[in-house]
Amino acid sequence: MADILYTYKGSVYANITNKCNCRCTFCIRFVKDGVGDADTLWHKTNPTKSEVLDAIRNFDFSGYDELVFCGYGEPTCQLDILLEAAAFAKKEKHLKIRLNTNGQGSVENGRDIVPELAKVIDSISVSLNAPTKEDYEKVTRPLHSNGFENMLEFTKRCREEIKDVRWSIVDVLPQEEIDRCLALSREHDIPLRIRKKT
Ligand code: SF4
Repeated sequence: MADILYTYKGSVYANITNKCNCRCTFCIRFVKDGVGDADTLWHKTNPTKSEVLDAIRNFDFSGYDELVFCGYGEPTCQLDILLEAAAFAKKEKHLKIRLNTNGQGSVENGRDIVPELAKVIDSISVSLNAPTKEDYEKVTRPLHSNGFENMLEFTKRCREEIKDVRWSIVDVLPQEEIDRCLALSREHDIPLRIRKKT
């Protein structure tokens, strides 16, 4: 069975589903099966809620103060498990909770999910990926229409309800695109993190 919890660069991650509603051209799961100490992050079948809760219950979090929901899939595609597992980790393991997401969660679930996230998530990192709708569609290839607008609206809603919200891009983008992402970040008052490519 694939790893539900894995560690990478000093953090613990929860890989709760392989479902995803994007087909990013750069997605690491098309390149290798595992990250960090996980041999594979591909589940034979996606884990049940009780399997995820058991994995959190049985993991030794000594030395860690945060659990990050991020794996080979989009966590908000399995919102029920995400919310319950985050609440459980917070209550039982006294962890801070971070969500790394593509920002399509509200359209995916057919409602504004931000109030539900705000109850259990301390910080959110949304993949911006590109500064314009055209570039975003090319790179992210979202299954839902208006993916760029969905991501933008989702991030703005998160900013209203959650303290620590940021966009992220990878430093492989051309400088001109990075500059336009920085301009977007200033325009919407959403901090931008420029990550190094892994
Ligand atoms: S949203 Fe994440 S998991 Fe989904 S295709 Fe893009 S990089 Fe991969």
